Amino acid sequence: MRDGLDLYDTTIHEGHQLLTSGELSSVQLTKAVLERISRVEEDLHAIVTVTEDLALHQAEEADEVLHGGSPTPLTGIPVVIKDNMCTKGVRTTCSSRMLEGFVPPYNATVVEKLTDAGMVLVGKGNMDEFAMGSSNEHSAFFITRNPWDLSTVPGGSSGGPAVSVASGEAIYALGSDTGGSIRQPAGFCNVVGLKPTYGRVSRYGLVAFASSLDQIGPMTRDVTDCALVMNAIAGYDRRDSTSVDYPVPDYTKSLIPDLKGLRLGVPKEYFVEGMQQGVEGVMRAAIAKLEELGATVDWEASLPHTRYALAAYYIIAPSEAMANLARYDGVKYGFSYNGDNMWDAMERTRQYGFGPEVKRRIILGTYALSAGYYDAYYLKAQKVRTLIMQEFARAFQRYDALITPTSPTVPFKIGQKVDDPLQMYLSDVCTLPINIAGIPGLSVPAGFHDGLPVGMQILGKPFCEEVLLRVGYAYEQATDWGRRRPPI
Ligand code: GLN
Repeated sequence: MRDGLDLYDTTIHEGHQLLTSGELSSVQLTKAVLERISRVEEDLHAIVTVTEDLALHQAEEADEVLHGGSPTPLTGIPVVIKDNMCTKGVRTTCSSRMLEGFVPPYNATVVEKLTDAGMVLVGKGNMDEFAMGSSNEHSAFFITRNPWDLSTVPGGSSGGPAVSVASGEAIYALGSDTGGSIRQPAGFCNVVGLKPTYGRVSRYGLVAFASSLDQIGPMTRDVTDCALVMNAIAGYDRRDSTSVDYPVPDYTKSLIPDLKGLRLGVPKEYFVEGMQQGVEGVMRAAIAKLEELGATVDWEASLPHTRYALAAYYIIAPSEAMANLARYDGVKYGFSYNGDNMWDAMERTRQYGFGPEVKRRIILGTYALSAGYYDAYYLKAQKVRTLIMQEFARAFQRYDALITPTSPTVPFKIGQKVDDPLQMYLSDVCTLPINIAGIPGLSVPAGFHDGLPVGMQILGKPFCEEVLLRVGYAYEQATDWGRRRPPI
């Protein structure tokens, strides 16, 4: 392990070496992480449910496997999972009153896969309610704080998982990303976050927000760890009809420290109006570094339909959310309010069970899909979606990957945007088009502006996560931004 770092600061691959050489046990590592949680959680509020007993039990089992079974790179390593992935016997709240007491009777496929790989679950990560938001301020329970500056937001909706990884409350995490929810908080917290290609990772057991956009992915301390987690979670699942039966490579093979022969494009539309100059400065320096590492860079790439992505997203995502959230009626499971009659009970269940942002999305979606408006909004948004996909496909004939900022700004102050939905929505302007197109996107630490982290986003063709990992890895090896730890 690197000098001067505490145990909870290890990466997966460094921790794995210590565990397999016998220098460290999983119980010791897990206790170090649990102890860290009890020390910093009061300031950070990143975790909805700490699963201490389960973690220690899984750590003991992992130690047995490490001593004579066949350990995987994840065996015995503590993880936080976003609280919208079903964990059997551990409540899964989506940070909503609606599911506050919901204990799933089954595991999500990713949870099953990580269990098979020897995970140690230390907690369920806080999030914006039902993954709707970009700051964690829409959690029904508490606001997660950014460890780089406690007065700023950690990003969202996977803010809890991002903060856990950044601050040593977990060694890695799983997040979900519908419009940026892995990459934007990863960028805000100086960790690595990957939204895989739509269909690459099973969504079975992920509480649905917008089913044609949702995807689960890793949040880690470095790119090597990201590859290791992808090796464990990617692949076909017959229980998710949108998962794709396409061979899963060994992602660690793409960890090559140079970029010789790669063609990169920098789409000018992602350097948007309202972008902080400091962020732009960090990005220009980062891209110059990629050039130094051997890539050819076209600084004048163009994706003109980018400007319609935000509008299309805020029709498509709320429309799907409205349909997905219809199931919370107070009858089958979740929060339930006793009314005078069935309709009254249902109305009040939804009135008290959902927070304001979720209601806003349901109303937007209901409007966009209503008779007479369907063609004008939903159908049109779907046509825009096709144009955006085609535009990316054309760009990837010329470039192996595209480079953009992950967000136009560094983390903003708590309270700054929460009453202005449009400003909040604009913070995902660089990440949403990627979900619309279904392509993969990786955010890696790119530098700092005003003492706060800036993320670089790397985009590629469907099922070409390896190219993104290669670019991220080469950049990471040539810089030290990702090795910096927050002052908490
Ligand atoms: N911030 C975006 C939204 O509120 C994206 C959220 C997400 O990716 N889950 O919809």
